[in-house]
Amino acid sequence: MLDSVRSRLTLWNVGVLSVVLVAFSWGVYALTKRTLSERLDSGLRATLETTVSELPDHSDPQPMDLGLIKESLSELHFPGQDIGVMDEQGRTVAENTSGGAAPLRLPPRPFGPAVAAQFYQWPEATPEGGSNCRGVYRRLPESPAGTVYYVVVTQSLHAMMGPLEVLESSFAAAAVLALLLAGVGGWFLTRRALAPVAAMAESAQRITAENLAERLPVGNPRDELGRLASVFNALLGRLGASFAQQRQFMADASHELRTPVSVMRTASQVTLEKSQRDESEYREALSIIEQQTRRLSRIVEDMFTLARADSGGIAVEATKLYLDELLADATRTAKVLAARKGISLEMVPMSEAPFRGDEGLLRRMFMNLLDNAIKYTPTGGTVKTALEPRDTNYWVSISDTGVGIPREAQAHIFERFFRVDKARTQTAEGSGAGLGLAIARWIATVHQGRLELVRSDGSGTTFLVILPRSGGGKGLTSVH
Ligand code: ADP
Repeated sequence: MLDSVRSRLTLWNVGVLSVVLVAFSWGVYALTKRTLSERLDSGLRATLETTVSELPDHSDPQPMDLGLIKESLSELHFPGQDIGVMDEQGRTVAENTSGGAAPLRLPPRPFGPAVAAQFYQWPEATPEGGSNCRGVYRRLPESPAGTVYYVVVTQSLHAMMGPLEVLESSFAAAAVLALLLAGVGGWFLTRRALAPVAAMAESAQRITAENLAERLPVGNPRDELGRLASVFNALLGRLGASFAQQRQFMADASHELRTPVSVMRTASQVTLEKSQRDESEYREALSIIEQQTRRLSRIVEDMFTLARADSGGIAVEATKLYLDELLADATRTAKVLAARKGISLEMVPMSEAPFRGDEGLLRRMFMNLLDNAIKYTPTGGTVKTALEPRDTNYWVSISDTGVGIPREAQAHIFERFFRVDKARTQTAEGSGAGLGLAIARWIATVHQGRLELVRSDGSGTTFLVILPRSGGGKGLTSVH
């Protein structure tokens, strides 16, 4: 039972309330008792003084006349209080117990020597007893004849204990009632307060990878539970998006891989259908298979790169390098491809550009962009590369005079597996699976830079890579 927050909260509620109630009751009880005792004592003291003043003068040289004393006492009347006179041996010589119950409760011996009033309790040990009382006595000045008398005043504690007992029982009843109310009320209130948690748990139980679109109920979005539900829903949203992205990736990947595989299968099936074939036919089939294998391995490698990039599994090692040299190198490599297609590849003269970055990845980014530029530029066209320092960055531009990218497709070209014209690029030699720009953008980002399409129309396309001159390598030191 204690495993539930509800019962624990209720118990805490009741526990704290009982501590408060006990402390409060005890405080009020003690204060009331003290006030009543003080009032009782001052009443006793006043009676004592009055009695003493009403007694015959003890300085009289004659021995005290007991008759006179008795007479004086009988004339005095104090409601609720008994008065008496006793001698040194503790014997009552005169008393007036009309105010309370006889007999007069005398103080314990030995009596105090002082003339000042002395208080006592009867019986001493059990002040809460049935017939207990409080008393005060005072020694009268010794008479010239040598007799010593004490005046005693007592009062039953019953009058004082009455209100205290009423207080005690009222406190007990109020405490029981308050605790009962706190317990029952707390139990129901916590059930109400925790109802959203139960609803959230129930909804959360239904959520699986298949229905990540479901959301937890948000009661009051401004309270803690509402905020928790909102945060959880946002998490579900992110998870859902990431799941959807992964599913899309899988679907696109299998779709891309299916074509070369089926081309290879068809080529081999057709070739094997006949038991005997010319060498040229075998060669043709093998060349188709080789072409598709090359395409397949490029797609697989690109996918592998992106998958590892996503999981942080690529070791990005920053070294000191010259960006201008790297770009010139990539341009030289691409020149072979360009020449084969009858495209002129120009390199705008550039100044030294020291940089810190991953040489292999940067080369790959430039090659992907150059590859695309050559691929989508018809024979006779021009591809131009340039690098210039601007403010705190290097601007590397790769422009071509190619077919351009349709306006509606421009927003999507950096998405994985996106190709403007699938039919056109699917089988073309060297064509990718629409992963080249996604990889290039990741490489720019990992160097704290960015890759953007700045212009694309019927007259050609320009891609711009912006890299920080301070060295994009600062963030790359982590090697996974
Ligand atoms: P792929 O590896 O298939 O070329 P990319 O991600 O590199 O894929 O490019 C995505 C799409 O962007 C390509 O299918 C192509 O249509 C378009 N594209 C990229 N670069 C150029 C360019 N320089 N000129 C025209 N279209 C381009």
